[in-house]
Amino acid sequence: MVNQDYQDYMKRFDQQVSKYIPSKEAWTPVDDALYTPPDLFRIPLKDAAEMQLNSIKYSFTHHYTHNRTYQKFCQDHSFSPADLKTYDDLEKIPLIPDTFFKDYPLGKDFALWLGNIFTGSLPRIVIKQAHPTFDEVINAFNASGMAVAYSSGTSGRHTFIPRDQRTFCLSEYAVAKSVISMIYPLWEPSMHGYLLMPNPKKTNVYAGKVCTIYFDAIQDVRVAIDRDISTELIRMTMSGQKGLKSTVVKYFAKRESEKMVSEIIRWLEYHDKTNEKIALVGAPFIISAVMKRLDHDGRSFDFGDRGGVATGGGWKAYEGLRVPVAEFRTQVEKILGIPQKFCLDIYGMVEGNGWMVHCPEGHYLHSPYSYYKPLVLDDEYHPVGYGEWGRFAFLDAAALSYPGFIVSGDKVRMLEHCPVCDRPGPVLEPEIKRAAGEEIRGCAEEVRRMLSVDLKKGET
Ligand SMILES: [Zn+2]
Repeated sequence: MVNQDYQDYMKRFDQQVSKYIPSKEAWTPVDDALYTPPDLFRIPLKDAAEMQLNSIKYSFTHHYTHNRTYQKFCQDHSFSPADLKTYDDLEKIPLIPDTFFKDYPLGKDFALWLGNIFTGSLPRIVIKQAHPTFDEVINAFNASGMAVAYSSGTSGRHTFIPRDQRTFCLSEYAVAKSVISMIYPLWEPSMHGYLLMPNPKKTNVYAGKVCTIYFDAIQDVRVAIDRDISTELIRMTMSGQKGLKSTVVKYFAKRESEKMVSEIIRWLEYHDKTNEKIALVGAPFIISAVMKRLDHDGRSFDFGDRGGVATGGGWKAYEGLRVPVAEFRTQVEKILGIPQKFCLDIYGMVEGNGWMVHCPEGHYLHSPYSYYKPLVLDDEYHPVGYGEWGRFAFLDAAALSYPGFIVSGDKVRMLEHCPVCDRPGPVLEPEIKRAAGEEIRGCAEEVRRMLSVDLKKGET
């Protein structure tokens, strides 16, 4: 099913982002599983199972050998690399709850904690401050070549993930490849993009940071949120903290969100008159705010097959105000004139490097399955069958600097095959929920809260 035009299309993509692909001599089973298949969602099941076992086994052995914290965790669960022989053994790999990545101490010990969850030896870092903030610690790590990033919850407790450059490259390549293959044949290097996320170069929020590759995949990218977004700012907005400082933040947030919407509309007006391809990538609520304004003014565009929308970061926390994903697509088609086949949502998380993407035919979330194994668990953390609701977990071979065998706080339902298209791998139903008792989270949610005062009014 992988035709020649598609092969050429992906070959061009690999050339365009070649700096994210290590030289072949250095490839591990993880690289084989990610870089070799021309389409991560159309690998014959038998081949994919073999790649999945090899890559996850490689990664598990690596963490067991080089991460003392995880090794101890596995010993407590009586599981070692010698117990991982067949495909069915994969489900026995000890899984870490996502809360583990939030359970860090404050102050200088934070750097020590980060060192403990890191696999291998950390680069030497210098922290100049006596009482460093989180961002000062993260920036010190990142100045030494790492790509530490975070997401957070409504309580303001962040999830920190210590990626090294190698893992970061795998993650970025994976997200770009996943989206560009699903949106075939829209992508081309000369297209124009708008990033509806914080500038990757100025934020440690993962949803922003992972978009670094957007600037390499296409030549011209505008950024909607071009200021430095710190954990402190996120903490204030996420925790709904009262007081002068957050009021000032909200005042600027309101003005900035109005300005941002106007600028995006100006960009759309400009490209309305060109014949170039365009792509809007990022937080769905920003596109919603743009469409709301256009609709209010009785305006619309007709970009047709030269326009695409890829959303990510989650709608999860948009409760009450949220636009169902299907409704969102209808609006995009009506107001921007972009067909539904080119309006795709992405589901991923700061802890993982697997990116589930809508198929253009049915808008089910297809999971990569050559280097990443999605799982659905019951309350005792045992895998449940296809078609049953449960907690989302995953075995992620691409996480090389931290153990990527993680249970999330999301509730999902997985199907063995897509009910609509003919791609062979597993899918998640498009509506993702938070498991009961879990705090609301999502990278888009952080960004939304920061800009929300005004946008929220427009949504009701
Ligand atoms: Zn499908």
